[in-house]
Amino acid sequence: NDCARERTWDVAEIEALRAAAGALGGVIERDLSIDALRESNERLWQARKMEAVGRLAAGLAHDLRNYLTVVVGYGTFIRERLPGGDTGDADALLAAAARVGDLIDRLLAFSRPQDTVTLEVLDIGTVIRDVESVVRALLPEAHTLSVSVSPGLDPVLLDRGQFERVIVNLALNARDAMPGPGTLGILARPDPAGVALEVADTGMGMDEATRARAFEPFFTTKAGQGTGLGLSMVYGIVTGSGGSVDLATVPGAGTTVTVCLPRAQA
Ligand code: ADP
Ligand code: MG
Repeated sequence: NDCARERTWDVAEIEALRAAAGALGGVIERDLSIDALRESNERLWQARKMEAVGRLAAGLAHDLRNYLTVVVGYGTFIRERLPGGDTGDADALLAAAARVGDLIDRLLAFSRPQDTVTLEVLDIGTVIRDVESVVRALLPEAHTLSVSVSPGLDPVLLDRGQFERVIVNLALNARDAMPGPGTLGILARPDPAGVALEVADTGMGMDEATRARAFEPFFTTKAGQGTGLGLSMVYGIVTGSGGSVDLATVPGAGTTVTVCLPRAQA
């Protein structure tokens, strides 16, 4: 009420206001720092969880790989000894074993993305051209593949195998997003920081909830089909190389994943 009209504040009132403001400020500050603490704990916990999951995945992958060697070994014997050359059943068994092998590779790549990395100065265009046939083979007939590489791109410092996995994983996601005919575009162009790789599809796109979790390890919308490790691996490889990943998507219209990589320093 006193504020509505002009008046002179006396010293006691000013002191009382100051004390009240101080107390209020203290409460706000404490609340903010508790939030900050909670957030950093959350991040630490998330990092620990990822580390534990990674260790578990690595252990599992090694055990599985040992048993798989046995399965493939005996499977091959059986295939060779089948009378009459009718090897269809054994071929199916070995093909399934090969798929399990791929899955183990992915588990391993995920669990120790920094391991066995051999950095090379690479021309991205060359790598793209090299994996183009692999990507083509992964796509159904109804899909168009369009590859475009700007001339004179800066070289980047990368592990070749890792970079190939980035392209292949993004291409697989694009394929999965296009149940009907569609176009997968792979484009490499100059970027202020170095080189940008864009993998674009004309598929189903993502709603906001999916987009928000897409990079989370083990997050998948492909029940029974997906591992949820593709994008988290892409993220790990790219940020580990000093780059960044960006995702633009329109539900029903398509998705473009843009990977920016820093140019290799002399
Ligand atoms: P996975 O492919 O095994 O499901 P990913 O980590 O590669 O795992 O992708 C996580 C999820 O992100 C997918 O399940 C899908 O919902 C979504 N996603 C990724 N790429 C695309 C894309 N190009 N178009 C639509 N959705 C996508
Ligand atoms: Mg995937």
